[in-house]
Amino acid sequence: MSRAITGATVVAGVVGAPVRHSMSPILHNAWLAAAGIDGVYVAFSPPADRFAAFVEGLRGGAVRGLNVTLPFKEQALALADEASDLARAAGAANVLVFEADGRIRADNTDGFGMLQALAVQAPGFDPAAGPAAVLGAGGAARGAVAALLAAGAPQVRIINRSGARAQAIAAALGPKVEVFGWDRTQDAFASANVLINATSLGLDGGEPLQVSLDGLPPAAAVMDMVYKPLRTPLLQHAAAAGHRTADGLEMLLRQAIPSFEAFFDQAPPATVDVRALALAAMGLTA
Ligand code: NDP
Repeated sequence: MSRAITGATVVAGVVGAPVRHSMSPILHNAWLAAAGIDGVYVAFSPPADRFAAFVEGLRGGAVRGLNVTLPFKEQALALADEASDLARAAGAANVLVFEADGRIRADNTDGFGMLQALAVQAPGFDPAAGPAAVLGAGGAARGAVAALLAAGAPQVRIINRSGARAQAIAAALGPKVEVFGWDRTQDAFASANVLINATSLGLDGGEPLQVSLDGLPPAAAVMDMVYKPLRTPLLQHAAAAGHRTADGLEMLLRQAIPSFEAFFDQAPPATVDVRALALAAMGLTA
């Protein structure tokens, strides 16, 4: 893909540390090329202690917008002048938009991506149909809990190693959030409508996620935010037990859609098979 960079090229990007392996430039640049937009999407990795200065320097719109990834999402929210309800509830922003008047707007599209992945890959899934069980209480989990509540989940049960971290989410997001320890997963799974892994367990080369799905109702959907490997052991076990499953790659692809809209003021073209592009970048086939 080769496109001319002009004096009017709109610049957007992703900022993180590390960011080298981010999939976002591949997706956004494929969309830009297919849509014929005079824009470019690049990756930035400022030193962690210069992140605030980096963002401040973009006020006024030298760069139209940024996706934000680890470890900057919380800081990104704090630096913004305005934030969507979801970003505030998630306590983190994965999208910053730089307005011409100097304001910075923050949003969080991770929860949207998660719900869209479930909608697409687990047909019939309705977040409002019953309690959700979420493994983890990090940034991704908090975003997931916020999105599930906003989508009408009657209750969200957090299972986490550090009880204090889970309690902090419950304190921030209200009485529909209940906290369980790993020794009580079966109680948390009973009557659950969906199980979401928002821990980093199961990541290639890392510690495995060891959890029994006994007690999870067969109709429950199962989602894993981890996408390396694509078919995690959790998703394999869930599928073998008859659950509908949704993968972390689809979540990643779906969160990018509203990000692109925020940066380039139009929906990404549906003609690009971004999943195939992402799979190819991961060395996998569709
Ligand atoms: P954090 O580091 O903020 O949180 C990590 C979570 O994993 C915590 O709940 C932590 O528990 C738990 N955990 C880690 N190691 C262990 C262990 N040995 N035993 C038990 N629990 C453990 O990470 P994030 O919330 O930002 O991300 C979580 C995962 O979600 C990552 O794999 C990330 O790649 C993925 N993700 C995927 C996205 C997608 O689009 N598919 C988007 C965002 C994230 P504790 O609190 O006790 O330390």
